[in-house]
Amino acid sequence: MSPAGPLTRACGIETEYGVASAHLARVPDDSAPPLAAEAAVNEIFRHTPQRHRSAHHFLANGSRLYVDIGSHPEYAGAECRYLSDVLAQDRAGDAILADMLATANADLATREPAARIHLLKSNADAHGNTFGCHENYQIRRSPELPTAGFVGFLAARQILTGAGLLPFPGEVAHTERPTSALAPLLFSARAPFMTAPTSADPTRGRAFINTRDEPHADKTRWRRLHIIAGDAARCEATTAVKVLLADALLALIEAGGWDLVECELADPIAATRAWNLDPNSPAERTGGRSPITCPELLTLVCDRIAPTLPDDPLTARTFDLARRGIAALESGDYSSVQTELDWAIKATLARHVAASAPEGYADPRVLRTMLAFHDISDTTGLAAGLRRAGLMASWVSPEEVAAARTTPPTGTRARIRGAFVAACAAAGRSASVGWAHIRLDSPPRPQIDLPDPLSDDDAQAAALIAELTER
Ligand code: ATP
Ligand code: MG
Ligand code: MG
Repeated sequence: MSPAGPLTRACGIETEYGVASAHLARVPDDSAPPLAAEAAVNEIFRHTPQRHRSAHHFLANGSRLYVDIGSHPEYAGAECRYLSDVLAQDRAGDAILADMLATANADLATREPAARIHLLKSNADAHGNTFGCHENYQIRRSPELPTAGFVGFLAARQILTGAGLLPFPGEVAHTERPTSALAPLLFSARAPFMTAPTSADPTRGRAFINTRDEPHADKTRWRRLHIIAGDAARCEATTAVKVLLADALLALIEAGGWDLVECELADPIAATRAWNLDPNSPAERTGGRSPITCPELLTLVCDRIAPTLPDDPLTARTFDLARRGIAALESGDYSSVQTELDWAIKATLARHVAASAPEGYADPRVLRTMLAFHDISDTTGLAAGLRRAGLMASWVSPEEVAAARTTPPTGTRARIRGAFVAACAAAGRSASVGWAHIRLDSPPRPQIDLPDPLSDDDAQAAALIAELTER
């Protein structure tokens, strides 16, 4: 399958998954979960694809699998330069973890008391812990990003590409009620938790951008723009919109084409929260400009980037969805995006279940459906069934997902990393691998640096891999 949707830089997506567990049969006190999160994660990580001793390791597709703070399994997808690869890598992460989970659950079902673990590609739990999706974009060290305007863009994009959230009574951070056509749902699960435009320490403030300067590349030339606000999406069409708009806007900025002053909001946190309740509420701007709504701001961005987009079917399809999504935010009629944008898919599902549930949206059946929407298992989660029924768009085929589990993306250093990881695994050698280096440890060899994310060729690495694969 040839890659589609050329991007203007390296882009990688990280996803943290939520963990829950349940008893499979009645036990005396079944109010407590059978496994603490840490124990559940240990059960899952006993079944990594390469049976790796460490929970932190790189895979043959160039991605990184590990356990993040707070016992969240995390899949950090490899650097991609095509949108099709970003989407395939992301879906591959779900599939890899779903398989590890299925093996762990088969084992747990035979234990006493029998239990099951769930992995949720969601964004927050009922206690107010947040996790979710990071995007990484390689950007030039200079000129500096017009941060205020870019944050304004992110505040609006948060709504367009939100995963949808049905707030339940007692949940923290949801005291205000939505008034949009999506009510009682919110557009973004993450927006209610945002506290700062940027942050160098995201464990303290929940920001749009993490400013920690860690490029995982040649520091003199590049930075890595680390966006930590996006909702983790179940439908890859939603992810496509999220990435295309950001990438194209960054290219426009780097070309000196726009300083984004029209996107500067007086209070981006207040704006994203207010738009989450009603996207058509006006948000104050800086510089005495008139207030702006979420669809208006996104239209400004789309009008600017439209002439810069490459002539490519996936790009065109994604941009068309972005435009339809913006129109849906404006009109309140989301029927034209109800199989492609997560918030619309979820709202359609919630409305359907609530219609036949005795307590409407407050019915436990609706709550269970909302959780199952995020559940990555093919047996207990809903995504596979929704895709089969045509209720959730599928832009990556099952064959492409399967291939992306072991094949690195096209045209980046992930190709070298993945080949090295595979060669070491096959030869039973130990190695040290990072985003920007590889090194054979048995027997010890000098480290090979990979400072350019968009270079998929290195003579030294090629020779080492050839040596490892020779019999
Ligand atoms: P944290 O988990 O604290 O967010 P992190 O973001 O530094 O840590 P990882 O979880 O390892 O690190 O994920 C790094 C992500 O950045 C991956 O998705 C990878 O593909 C991507 N990436 C690495 N280098 C670059 C780069 N130079 N430009 C763009 N993306 C990059
Ligand atoms: Mg990470
Ligand atoms: Mg990160």
